[in-house]
Amino acid sequence: DDDHPVWAGHPDQVSRLMPRLLLDLQNRGQLAAGMSTYSPGREQLVSTYKEIGTVIEAFRINHPGKFADIMTEHAGRAAIGHTRYATCGPTTRRYAQPFERRHGCMWKWFAFGFNGQLTNFKSLRDQLLQNHSYHLAKDNDTEVIMHYLAHEVRADDRPDLVEVFRRLSQKFDGAYNIVFLNALGEMVVLRDPTGLRPMTYSVEGNMFGAASESVALQNLGFRNIQSLAPGEMILIRDGKLTTHRFAPERRPSHCFFEWIYFANVASTLDDRSVYLSRARLGQELAKQERALGRVPLDPEDTVVVPVPDTGKAAADAMAFALGIPSVEGLIRNRYIGRTFIEGGNQRADKVKQKFTPLREVMQGKRVLLVEDSIVRSTTLQSLLRHVREQGGAREVHVRVACPPILAPCFYGIDMSTVRELFAPKFMAGLVPSVTEQDAMAAELGADSLFYLPAESIARCIDLPAEKLCRACITGEYPTAHGQQLYQLALRTHAT
Ligand code: SF4
Repeated sequence: DDDHPVWAGHPDQVSRLMPRLLLDLQNRGQLAAGMSTYSPGREQLVSTYKEIGTVIEAFRINHPGKFADIMTEHAGRAAIGHTRYATCGPTTRRYAQPFERRHGCMWKWFAFGFNGQLTNFKSLRDQLLQNHSYHLAKDNDTEVIMHYLAHEVRADDRPDLVEVFRRLSQKFDGAYNIVFLNALGEMVVLRDPTGLRPMTYSVEGNMFGAASESVALQNLGFRNIQSLAPGEMILIRDGKLTTHRFAPERRPSHCFFEWIYFANVASTLDDRSVYLSRARLGQELAKQERALGRVPLDPEDTVVVPVPDTGKAAADAMAFALGIPSVEGLIRNRYIGRTFIEGGNQRADKVKQKFTPLREVMQGKRVLLVEDSIVRSTTLQSLLRHVREQGGAREVHVRVACPPILAPCFYGIDMSTVRELFAPKFMAGLVPSVTEQDAMAAELGADSLFYLPAESIARCIDLPAEKLCRACITGEYPTAHGQQLYQLALRTHAT
């Protein structure tokens, strides 16, 4: 149908939409990308293509011939895809997703992609190892999920997939959104019962689409995009779509850090716009700035500079509310990946390649530098030197559109130890005193530093605090294993 807003091609070529969809999820992982597709007319009913690198690199989008070959070889009427962001495991192709398990029996032949992190992965892994029929080749939770899935679909009859995931939900703790496709052409999209990570979906004509973030569906032409409720799964079987609850309802714990930093600014997650949330964070920063009265707000002498790109919405809103200009004092080189996302230990070195300070707008000025959050501080420390030395700023005052990150994340954001975090090195309690913030400013090389208070987060995202995971700013984890891991992390840190 030529008027179809999403797809007007041959049904067996639907997989061609996948690279485009993944490009809009690139913020969620740049280490590897891939897809698994299903086609009934192919000997390989399920086939998987994946490579390390960004979506453009992995799918060879800059090499039209190679890209066309990949799309032809893996053409299918259903597809699942993944962009990888690692919290564990090396950056090799073997760890890229989707994971595929081949089998002669159609329902035992499946592929899946996973977003999140299992907090009880080690005990699940130990249970598998005790059972000698399992051979574990990798050290990560995705492989553990694959074995548990394989175990659940091992019956001689076509399994009830709702029941399969119901049983898995009784074993898994943590964040685990899953997309699943098997050689019968059955597809599952599910969101774990805590709803830690986002999951959106939409139906347009006879097309179904799901993605971690709404922006990916919106850019394919899907309308009426909704968030999947925590503990619910969508099953597509024999061409019919049904929604099921696979885990008992519990209080959701949406990761607040998605709105602050991680998600694409163009997305709407759980009915809350990422952009508007960030803008409200900026308005809160402005309110706080007036109340503090620490810096003269003279529009001739003071400028707000966002740390691009995630700090921009908050910086602009803050500047507007304060009546001072927001200027692009830092130009980001778009062709170098996000420093936070890259992993490894060369974060600081990459800052200089990544940001160019604009002397034209900062020379001799008092700069209010707006950062979305401070996790390890290596990026910011290096940036501050850059803003002074190259940008010529007279004073640099850091304003953080997030409370201090005090505790690790065990649910899929790469900050898993207390030791690597900046704020706990300076803070005795949950709320930073002015003296503690001054000590942090001195360490960073800033003239002053202020964070947003934890209680402003729920207000800015416009969700009740009880419905948000705020574990990394409060130390209160929404799942039992998460809390245990935190106690263990504190003990390890103390020794
Ligand atoms: Fe998000 Fe922090 Fe919770 Fe991790 S601990 S899921 S980053 S709010």
